[in-house]
Amino acid sequence: MNFHVLTLFPEMIIQGLAASIIGRAMEKEIISLEAVNIRDYTINKHKKVDDYTYGGGAGMLMQAQPVYDAWKAVAGKIDEKGGKGRETKVIYVTPQGRTFHQAMAKELAGEEDLIFLCGHYEGVDERVLEEIVTDFVSIGDYVLTGGELPAMVMIDAIARMVPGVLGNRESGETESFSNYLLEYPQYSRPENWMGKKVPEVLLSGDHQKVEEWRLEQSLKKTKELRPELYERWAQENQEYFIRKA
Ligand code: SAM
Repeated sequence: MNFHVLTLFPEMIIQGLAASIIGRAMEKEIISLEAVNIRDYTINKHKKVDDYTYGGGAGMLMQAQPVYDAWKAVAGKIDEKGGKGRETKVIYVTPQGRTFHQAMAKELAGEEDLIFLCGHYEGVDERVLEEIVTDFVSIGDYVLTGGELPAMVMIDAIARMVPGVLGNRESGETESFSNYLLEYPQYSRPENWMGKKVPEVLLSGDHQKVEEWRLEQSLKKTKELRPELYERWAQENQEYFIRKA
């Protein structure tokens, strides 16, 4: 899978994602990451990419021309590789978008290419957004200074859903949000740490009991910390409570 990021700060993207699991996946060529500097595409002789907003108001806005030309260049390169450049999804990361979640990450992991557009300053001229953007996605209801961190958050979450990126495929399947529930508590060595013991059932070797305990713990944690997720799980798994009664 290939990630293409249109940004004014390409070094942030590369440095932020080149380490650990995602870095290893890049080395193994399971995923690729390209950060394209929008500034390289401006036709302004002073390399300017932003200007004042019509109608007044504080702050500068990223102009349409460099963003559009950067996108065209990336779409053209995808075409050259035999992909579908102009049909590739273009995600504008923006606080005004739909909120990103795990199911979205899993779905987007099925794309061959994805283009991210990172805004800065007051954002991006609406006309180029209308022209190239297919998805408007937010990472939460707060405003950051730029789209680079949101793009990195999304790329990390999507990339780890690409087969082969995680060492053990299972670890992506059973963790938090994969079925609405938060993951159960986990323990590693030693068995006794500062007087706190690992729950007995986890040492029992009884696989079924361990699974039952984990589900109960997941339910308990989700009910306490994310009651709305618990309700969704409970609605879809009513037979669990009938069985338990
Ligand atoms: N003026 C914009 C508004 O009120 O909606 C906010 C612009 S923000 C200061 C600059 C850029 O940061 C945005 O264009 C977007 O790319 C990015 N950004 C900020 N907060 C974000 C969030 N919660 N999710 C995704 N992107 C965000």
